[in-house]
Parts: sequence; C-alpha cells; structure tokens
Amino acid sequence: MGEYRIALIPGDGIGPEVAAPAIDVLNAVGKKFGHGFTFTALAAGGAAIDRYGEPLPSGVLEAAKDCGALLLGAVGGPKWDTLPGDKRPERALLALRKGLGVFANLRPAALLPQLRDACPLKEAVLAPAPPVNSTAGRANSPPAKDPPQGTAGAAAGFDLLIVRELTGGLYFGDRGRSAGGDSAFDTERYSRREIERVLRVGFEAALRRRRKVTVVDKANVLETSRLWREVAQDTMKDYPGVATDFLYVDNAAMQLISCPGQFDVIITSNLFGDILSDEASVLTGSIGMLPSASLGAPSGKSTAVPAEDSGALPADTGMISGATERFGMYEPIHGSAPDIAGKDMANPLGMILSAAMMLRYSFGLEGEALAVEGAVRAVLDRGLRTPDIARWSGRAGQNRGAVGTREMGAAVVKALEEDADAAGSSAPQTLSPHG
Ligand code: NAD
Repeated sequence: MGEYRIALIPGDGIGPEVAAPAIDVLNAVGKKFGHGFTFTALAAGGAAIDRYGEPLPSGVLEAAKDCGALLLGAVGGPKWDTLPGDKRPERALLALRKGLGVFANLRPAALLPQLRDACPLKEAVLAPAPPVNSTAGRANSPPAKDPPQGTAGAAAGFDLLIVRELTGGLYFGDRGRSAGGDSAFDTERYSRREIERVLRVGFEAALRRRRKVTVVDKANVLETSRLWREVAQDTMKDYPGVATDFLYVDNAAMQLISCPGQFDVIITSNLFGDILSDEASVLTGSIGMLPSASLGAPSGKSTAVPAEDSGALPADTGMISGATERFGMYEPIHGSAPDIAGKDMANPLGMILSAAMMLRYSFGLEGEALAVEGAVRAVLDRGLRTPDIARWSGRAGQNRGAVGTREMGAAVVKALEEDADAAGSSAPQTLSPHG
C-alpha cells in the first residue's frame, strides 16, 4: 500500500495516445494492489511550444523533481521542424535528462516467442551462434553456466539490454556554425567519471543476467572511445564473474543483425546507443514494443569506485536491483510517429512496459511490475496485435486482425484485472532487464 506521485508529459503525436492506456494500466495496478497513483500533468515539447512559446517552460523541471518519477510519451513532429535547434521540441528531452541527472538509459530488447513472426531476421540467424569478431577484448571469465531464472539465453533468439550513456557525449557537446553558416561542428567530450558510472550500471545489470558485457566504441578512430576502453578495462576488474569484450560500433551494427543472440548487455555512448537501440528494436518486431528507463544515482548512494580492489564483487550500488527507490524517467524508445498520429494505430505496449519499469526501479514494486509484464504477455498470447506487429499478408501494407491503440490498452487492463497467472508466469522470455 503506497502513495506515489508521477509527473506525466504526454507530449506530441502518438505520445498522448500511448500515455492514456499506460495511465489506465497504472490505475488498474493501484486498484488491484491498493496503491494510489497521482499524476501531475506537465507540458513539454511541441505542445509546450504551442502553448507557452518554449519547449521546456520554466517550472516543469522542478515540478517533475517533486514527483517520484517522470513518465513521458514522445515529443516532436514536422510542425516544429523548421524552428532553430535550441527552440525545437527535442531540446526539452535533452534538458530534462540533463536536469534530472538520469545518466543511464536501460533499453531491453528481447525476441518474444509470440512475436517471432514479426522479426525480420531469418530463423537461421536466430539460431545460437558463437561470439565473433570482438576487438581487443578479454573475457574475465566464461559466462555463468546456469543463467539466472527467467533468462532466455541465445537459444530463444535474443534477449539483450542496451545501456546507453544519456547525459554526455555528442548530444551535449559544444556545437555551432561558422559565420556564413556553411560549416558546422558538434563535439564529443566524456570524462572518466561519466564513463565509469554508466559502465557500473551495465556490469551490475549483467550480474543479474547472463554475465556478459560488450562495450561498443570506435576506439580505432575516436579519442573519446579510447578513453571509454581504458575506463572499461579498469572497471571490468571489479566484475571478475562477467565476461567482457569490445566491439567497434560499425561491427556491432552488423553483429546485431547477423548474430544477435551473442549479446547480453551492451554498454555504449549516447550517440551509439541511440542508433543501436533503434536497430535492436526492429529485431523485436516493432519499435512500438520497447520501453526504457533512465536512471540517476540512487539518493544517498555513490557510484564511485571502491577505494580498494579486493578482487571481490563490488557492493551492489543499488542502480538496477530495484531494492532502492530512486527518481527515474520512463519513456518508450519510439518518437511521436507523426505518420500514424491520431489514427488509433500506435502500439501502446512500449509505453505500458515503460510504466512497468517505473514501478520496478522508482517505486520498488517488483510484483506489480511483473503483473503488468505478465498482462502484456497474456494479450500477446491471445493473439492481439496492433498493426505494427500484426502478421503481414501477401500484399505489402495490408495486415490482418490488427487492433487499435485503445483496444490493445483495454485488453492489458482486463488481463491485469483477471490476472490468472500474470505475476507468476513462467514464460521463457522476460520483458525486463533483469533477464
Ligand atoms: P518515430 O519513432 O516517431 O517513428 C519511426 C517509425 O516507427 C514510424 O514509421 C512510426 O510510425 C513507427 N512507430 C513509432 N512508434 C510506434 C508505435 N508506438 N507503434 C507503431 N509504430 C510506431 O521516429 P521518427 O519518425 O524518426 O521521429 C518522429 C518525431 O519524433 C521527430 O520529431 C523526432 O525528433 C521525434 N522523436 C522523439 C523521441 C522522443 O520523444 N523520445 C524519440 C525519437 C524521435
């Protein structure tokens, strides 16, 4: 029984459409488990530009900080595309991430058995295969022989977690244009501390999964990547039970589509994580399926390096265990999808699963998170599909048996209310980065 305050930014395009069912699901969770969820609606992005003339009106950041978590649909759209860079809706996103200090973005991507048909890869590619082509990597030790319960493993296709650095790098570096506007620059800068704290989030996630980390960089060209590699080679010593290797980002992009089952946890920079997670999302069937959690340091806990390296596993920093309540920003990884906005076609499951991650990481409500994830599995088991994950017929663009955003959301609420076995489901694929 608890009272939880949630800042809500529905945003633009399909944002409000996918936010509505997520709110319904949270209210159903509240009713079922005896919690009270209070929503503070805030404007950011295009909607805020229209109403207040700026993408992140003053007071929004502080109002979000007053809540336990922030749930966000998506921002942006063609209507605001011609505005100067610092006035565009996406600036609100970057300012929120930076202002809230949410430096680690967790993006799980698993191939669910129910959506195997929606994966564009051939069955042969989904079969287990040995790791290939890592660069200058070194395994601390082989992956655990007995993966944690509920972990799918490579045999089922793939089940990976991308941990993306979120508040540094190219998206936050100096940028500009020459006086005439004919040349432009963006810069990437990373500090050892910024790299290490996100690496530790990834390594801790790996300890709860299949104990494998792949650090993705471009160390053959970029100085920032060389620093990433140095810091990773130091940090991995604190996680002797985790097999660690390194891939250049161009190779990683290829490996994701040629052998996705080799990956467990991928840790990478802001830019590379943005691109690779969109690629991974397509493999799951649709970008509309994928949730994300953006976390900062838990209050009162430090992610600093232990003073002495005893060779033992470092104490859990509480970043991903769900044992500590902490502020987080939760959003599906997709954008505002202007092409389908207002048509009741958007898949709300990525947003609903983001709400489940919020229950887990910000409110410590693991059972409730599992119940939501179980309800999503249940509706997929029953064959409900939004157009993006529906089986395609022979004619391109035509699909069969698809339901709309509202119907899909209502089905998840109903499954949660019925909840025959949602919390205790033994489905082989998990929907959370616990693996
Ligand atoms: P997008 O993710 O909005 O859309 C890409 C494709 O995926 C489109 O075909 C879209 O229809 C489809 N799609 C996305 N979400 C879907 C869902 N839930 N269900 C079914 N199909 C879905 O990416 P984009 O087209 O590059 O960007 C559109 C706008 O969104 C731009 O203004 C961009 O800047 C913004 N954007 C915002 C965020 C964010 O708010 N976090 C993230 C990415 C892009």
